[in-house]
Amino acid sequence: MNIRYWNRELETIDRSSLEKYQLENLKETVSWALKTPFYKKRLGEAGISSSDDIKKLSDIKKIPFTTKDDLRSAYPYGLLALPKEEVVRLHASSGTTGTPTVIYHSQRDLDRWTELVSRSVTMIGCGKGDVFQNMMTYGLFTGGIGLHYGAEKAGLLVIPVSSGNTKRQFKFMKDFQTTFVHATPSYMLHLYSKIEEEGFKLSDFNLKKSMGGAEPHSEDMRKKIESLFNIDMYNNYGLSEMNGPCVATECVYKDDMHIWEDSFYLEMINPDTLEESGEGESGELVISTLRRQATPLLRYRTRDLSVINPQPCRCGRTHRRISRIKGRTDDMLIINGVNVFPSQIEEIIMKMPEIGTNYLIAIEKSGALDKLTVKTEVGPDIFSDDARDLNALRHRIKDNIKAAISISPNVELHEPGVLPVHEGKAKRVIDDRKND
Ligand code: AMP
Ligand code: ZN
Repeated sequence: MNIRYWNRELETIDRSSLEKYQLENLKETVSWALKTPFYKKRLGEAGISSSDDIKKLSDIKKIPFTTKDDLRSAYPYGLLALPKEEVVRLHASSGTTGTPTVIYHSQRDLDRWTELVSRSVTMIGCGKGDVFQNMMTYGLFTGGIGLHYGAEKAGLLVIPVSSGNTKRQFKFMKDFQTTFVHATPSYMLHLYSKIEEEGFKLSDFNLKKSMGGAEPHSEDMRKKIESLFNIDMYNNYGLSEMNGPCVATECVYKDDMHIWEDSFYLEMINPDTLEESGEGESGELVISTLRRQATPLLRYRTRDLSVINPQPCRCGRTHRRISRIKGRTDDMLIINGVNVFPSQIEEIIMKMPEIGTNYLIAIEKSGALDKLTVKTEVGPDIFSDDARDLNALRHRIKDNIKAAISISPNVELHEPGVLPVHEGKAKRVIDDRKND
């Protein structure tokens, strides 16, 4: 029997009832997981063959961790727990080597995700009467469509404008008197820098609030955006493996993000020892889905570093809070909100015979946005060729990289011996961005 709660009741539920609810949902998740080829094997090896093997919440520790590599190895159907005809949507995210990871949703899964998004936007005081311009990318990426349905459910008027096209963003902000936007923090800064250039003034707009996420940003950057636009801005943490946006969001007090613990079971580990982190210690977030049937994930290593804040919040919600994400334990780069593994770029470069072995990936700020430059060495004979050939090669590299990571880089070609040579572990990425 599933315990049922209304939203507000669930948000302020006492801890012991919340834990009972979590246990019930964890057991159900384990039984769904056992229907997938991946977990049947993985859980079987750990001696778990039925949800009865989970008697208390701490029994979750018997379950091995799941990683992004596991998701990739299970591509395309290894983690699907429902017959295909029960699935109504999938989202895919880039992987290190081009094999994507995929998350499936049944209609009920989508309804539950929508409910979380709706709770998050309601939590910061948005609702009927608000005009929401969603500047997150629509498509396979979860930010666009994920926020869209949740905001509609909360009663906002949603403008599904998607990312980019700054001039049109301004036109809609002005014409529809947008009160609330969701954008990456770097795009918010970019937007601000273009207001005058595009022929608008801040007073044309009616913006009151924004939510931002998908990329790391500092408290100072939030404050800067708030003061430039004269708005309140709230942090929103999510990842495609856990649906997408609104896994954890700030309430009106803007003091760390409530993680929706009815839907996600939270653990924090030391990424080196894999032991549980002590209270107040920084560690890697490990999250299990508690209410998603089509793709259950158990003990997923997010690679995101944070700290759990167990203190009661002034808003009365009992779901614990996590701090702003402090970094990642792997080499995944987030460039203008898009995930990129350096290995994806390397794979492309190494496939092109004209290119030598040395390359460098440089990321810096260009205005408020991130700029990616890929520097490669090419054979000496290429430099003696026609300049037009060099240009064509540069464009080919650019196009191939764009096709793989959906970001168009600057490409620099250098003669052999120009780029730094490394003894030992090569340092291929130079990231000169500061988050403030
Ligand atoms: P994706 O799977 O494409 O949605 O990317 C998820 C990753 O983006 C997370 O694992 C984080 O590393 C990063 N991310 C998402 N939201 C935030 C946020 N609010 N602050 C910092 N990093 C974030
Ligand atoms: Zn709160």
